[in-house]
Amino acid sequence: MLAIDQPGLGVVRLYAADQAPQQQALENLDRGVLHPPGQLVFRLENLRGDAPLWLFFQANAWLGSSMHFALRSPQAWAVQANGWLAFVTSVLTVLSVMSLMGLWFGLLLRDRAYLFYAVYVLAYALLSAVSTGYAFHPLELGWVADDPAMVARVAGGMAGAASILFATRFADLPRYLPWSRHIPQGLAGLFLGIVLLSLVPWTAARALGGWLQNPVVVLAGPSVLTLLVLAWLRGSRYAGFFLLGWSPLVILTVCDSLQSFNLLQSWTWLQRASLAAAAFEALVLIAGLADRTLAARRDHRQALHRAEVDALTGTYNRGALLRRLQNMLETETGPLSVLFVDLDHFKRLNDHAGHQAGDQALVALVRTLRLELREHDVLGRYGGEEFMVLLPGQSLSQALGVAERLLEAVRNRRLAISADLPGLTISIGAAEAQMGESMPQLLKRADQAMYAAKHNGRDQVQADPRLPARAPAG
Ligand code: GH3
Ligand code: MG
Ligand code: MG
Repeated sequence: MLAIDQPGLGVVRLYAADQAPQQQALENLDRGVLHPPGQLVFRLENLRGDAPLWLFFQANAWLGSSMHFALRSPQAWAVQANGWLAFVTSVLTVLSVMSLMGLWFGLLLRDRAYLFYAVYVLAYALLSAVSTGYAFHPLELGWVADDPAMVARVAGGMAGAASILFATRFADLPRYLPWSRHIPQGLAGLFLGIVLLSLVPWTAARALGGWLQNPVVVLAGPSVLTLLVLAWLRGSRYAGFFLLGWSPLVILTVCDSLQSFNLLQSWTWLQRASLAAAAFEALVLIAGLADRTLAARRDHRQALHRAEVDALTGTYNRGALLRRLQNMLETETGPLSVLFVDLDHFKRLNDHAGHQAGDQALVALVRTLRLELREHDVLGRYGGEEFMVLLPGQSLSQALGVAERLLEAVRNRRLAISADLPGLTISIGAAEAQMGESMPQLLKRADQAMYAAKHNGRDQVQADPRLPARAPAG
């Protein structure tokens, strides 16, 4: 067998002594011979050992930068062909699956970076499928075979534009390099121009598109690379991710181009390495996207948390506490009670032991109260040294029981810190929400009950005298 790797897209003819000429092209294969992707295969039978062979390559705009051919026995050729087929299949599978994942997450998260990634990887997969010949065989895509150069140019242009838009969003270039805003847009526009020129039916426009392709790639590659390096130096973590994923492919592409100038001719593994680098890039970049999404989620959660939590004690702050109470008043169908908790003579502790000791006592108080409450009871700081406990499902008499438990726990903890001060105590006002009662009315009753506890000598609980009239709903 005479196998020719990467013949580009053109007709190859073989003339051998005593044999009829044979002709093959990737997009128009001889179905009588099994072809691995991107390889033309001529069967040579009864060939004399010293018979000369002539290969004729038809010049076309899409010749590969280097070409390799070898004479092999059918067995050796089959082993090599199977390996190559498995390799290209796995790379294209990785690219297609990553592209689908990008599309899925882009739609799910409404994040355009994923969509640009999906288009980029899919276009690159199509370009690889054409340039390796996989699209012709085994895929047998008729629409590619009709005009492979056009499909390759459109796929290349789409990959170029989408990769630039993706890099811009992913590395957040507008934030790190605000002055560069129009550069990636302009470069992506040039790539899209090539796509449009390749699609119109006028020959001159198509020729222009073909002519523009290399200069645009040469202009865009280093420009985007420079922007990414600058953004990375200014602290864009994801520019670093992009550079890590992209660099192997860029370096291999440059080496591939150097072969057009008769350099690195012995590096026959470049095409294989470029495909592996493309799969590597797709995997690194989707990992980067996932990392970016997780980081954004974490920031969001932290911001929500900070907005709800009291910085000193770690309980709900006043806003979060009142939002929860309002929500319970609207949705709770059973009884609902609240406890208004105020530290006794707290000013004295501050004056004698200092504000820091006061702060520590507040933290210790919260810890003590929390230990006595159920999972779904809500504890929050109403302000200063005043706290509130929301007790869903608890009637007033049950709430009074809880309050007694809290009083005792605080008493026993001896939260004084300073040796010459008595242990801290709390006063509690309890009230049960009544049917149709507004939040301010309920808070006022609980507050009044707390003041009654203060007047009665502190370290005790008082219930709002009004009897609960909240009928069970339904
Ligand atoms: P009473 O038994 O009547 O409630 O006496 P009290 O001293 O606790 O009463 P008052 O409400 O007059 O004093 C509350 C004090 O709580 C005043 C303020 O200095 C202190 N305080 C409020 N917030 C904080 C805080 O975050 N840290 C500290 N250390 N003290 C605070
Ligand atoms: Mg107070
Ligand atoms: Mg107080």
